[in-house]
Formats: sequence, structure tokens, C-alpha cells
Amino acid sequence: MINGRTKVCCLIGKPVSHSLSPVIHNAAFRELNLNYIYVAFNVERDSLKTAIRGIKSLGIRGVNVTMPHKTEVIEYIDVVDDNAREIRAVNTIVNDNGILKGYNTDGIGALKAIKRFTSIEGRRILLIGAGGAGRAIATELSKYASELIILNRTVSKAAEIALKLSKKGYKVRGRGLNRRIIEREIKKVDLIINATPIGMKEVVSSSPVPKELLSPDMVVFDIVYEPLETELLQYAKSLGCLTIDGLWMLIYQAAEAFKLWTDKEAPIEVMRKAALEVLERRKKKEEVEHFQP
Ligand code: NAP
Repeated sequence: MINGRTKVCCLIGKPVSHSLSPVIHNAAFRELNLNYIYVAFNVERDSLKTAIRGIKSLGIRGVNVTMPHKTEVIEYIDVVDDNAREIRAVNTIVNDNGILKGYNTDGIGALKAIKRFTSIEGRRILLIGAGGAGRAIATELSKYASELIILNRTVSKAAEIALKLSKKGYKVRGRGLNRRIIEREIKKVDLIINATPIGMKEVVSSSPVPKELLSPDMVVFDIVYEPLETELLQYAKSLGCLTIDGLWMLIYQAAEAFKLWTDKEAPIEVMRKAALEVLERRKKKEEVEHFQP
């Protein structure tokens, strides 16, 4: 029941209306009988500073930050943990008695999604994308991989993160993203990760990797979660690869945020079930809308 003691968590970004985070977190709060609620706020770029002030003055306990504010928000919070600073992106804020602390849970979310299905130690990884999510994943996975190759459309971004991680002693290379490079690099890897929006229903419903370059012994992880089964995952599945969908990462990154706000372990299965129900409903609605007799 919502009452005078209810703690509020929220998402800030633009747009937020299609976000699954409210459904995921509210399902978890209900399951654990916690007096918390999670809501989503559309925040324009030029309102970010005042929105963050509002978080303090309203005593909002926890915040998720999404596009386009993940980097800019760093300027307005009090403490940024080393991992988030290195990635230059905050996706979770904890309000501890008026002190706002920023974290990035994307990397650990991806790691846990992979570890749910397979081992990570010693893997040779091809990561496509060096945006906020790509950098978070690279930073986390480089600790375990025997080799990490980052491919990005803007090659300078892949090179920058690769150099940073190489300086820490990890084996990481950054290259551009084109068929010739994919063809050459994919032969050396056993885990492929798409961290670009390619495959998302609003973007381009294609695959960042051509089907003929995949082989059955590869693990294929796509961080896109709508559609749940992207074209890349469809190709991989049809070849017999182990596949991991982006909803697992979304759930595990949310679980890390949930733990930071509530100090409780999140109910993973409950969260995933709630998100799957929404995705299924949306899919059905779309099918009805596109049905042509
Ligand atoms: P971002 O910071 O904007 O980065 C986007 C990345 O995708 C960049 O590397 C960009 O390359 C690349 N890219 C975009 N369009 C491309 C295209 N048409 N062809 C080739 N490369 C393209 O975004 P982000 O936060 O990293 O998010 C990336 C994707 O991951 C989004 O679809 C997002 O929804 C998803 N995501 C999922 C989770 C999850 O929990 N499952 C979490 C975070 C993000 P350039 O650098 O060349 O622009």
C-alpha cells in the first residue's frame, strides 16, 4: 500500500514511456513486500540539473538514468564510483541522506547474464559497439577474457577504450566495423556480443554479423531486448549456437540497482516474468495493428 512512508525510485530519460524498468522494479518491490514504488519521468536535456536537485529535495531514494543523460548527469551528482567515471556513464543513483552517489550497473549486468548460461573465464570475445553500454561491457569483461576485440563504426571510440584497458594489462584491441574486419576477427573468437542498436525494432531489423560468418560453437549475446529474438539471435539459434537475449542483461543490471537501493537480493525470475508479459502484450498488439485480412 502506498502511504506516507513509501520510498520512491524513478527513471529519468527521454523518452521513457516504453521503458520496462517500472514493471521490473515494481514487480520486485511487490514480491519482497517492500514499501517502495518506481515511476518514470521524461526529463529534457535542459531540465536535467533541476531534476537532479528535485531528487534531493523530494528525498527520492534511487534513480535510474537512461538516454540521453547518462554522461551529463555526472556533473550534477556528488560522488561517482570509479567504474562509472571510467565508462563516463552513470545509470544508477543512490540518494543517501541527500548525498547522490552514481554507479554503472550495465557491465556487471552483462557479466551476470553471460554467467547464467556459460563460463566467461578465458573467453575470446568480439564486442560490437563502443557506446555507453559497449564501454561498460568492455570494462567488466576484459577482466576475465583472454582476448577482447572491440569493433565500432566510429573507430576512434573503439581504439580509445581498447587503449585504456590495455594500459591496465588486459588484452584488448579496437577496430572499425565492416564486413572485412568482422570476417577476419570472428575466426579468433568464441563469444560474440552486439552492443549496438542494430536489430532493435525501431532502428534496423538486421544483423550486425552476417549469418554465414557464425559457427555453431559460438556463444552469441545480443543486448537488444525488443525484439527479444533479434535477427542475430535467430541466425545463431538456427545454427545451434548458445544464445543469450538482452532482457537477461536488463534484469541483472536492474537487480544490481535494486540491491543498491534496498540492500536486498532482487527476485530475478519474478522480474523477468513481469517484463516478458509486457513484451508479449506489446507484440500481440502490434500483430493485431499490422494484420491485413
Ligand atoms: P550509445 O551510447 O548511443 O551507443 C550506441 C553504439 O551503437 C555506438 O557504438 C554506435 O556507434 C553504435 N551504432 C549505433 N547505430 C549504429 C549503426 N546503424 N551501425 C553501426 N553501429 C551503430 O547507446 P548505448 O547506451 O551503448 O546502447 C546501445 C544499445 O544497447 C541500445 O539498443 C540500447 O537499448 C541497448 N542497451 C541494452 C541494455 C540492456 O540491459 N539489455 C542496456 C543498455 C543499452 P558510433 O560510436 O559509431 O556512433
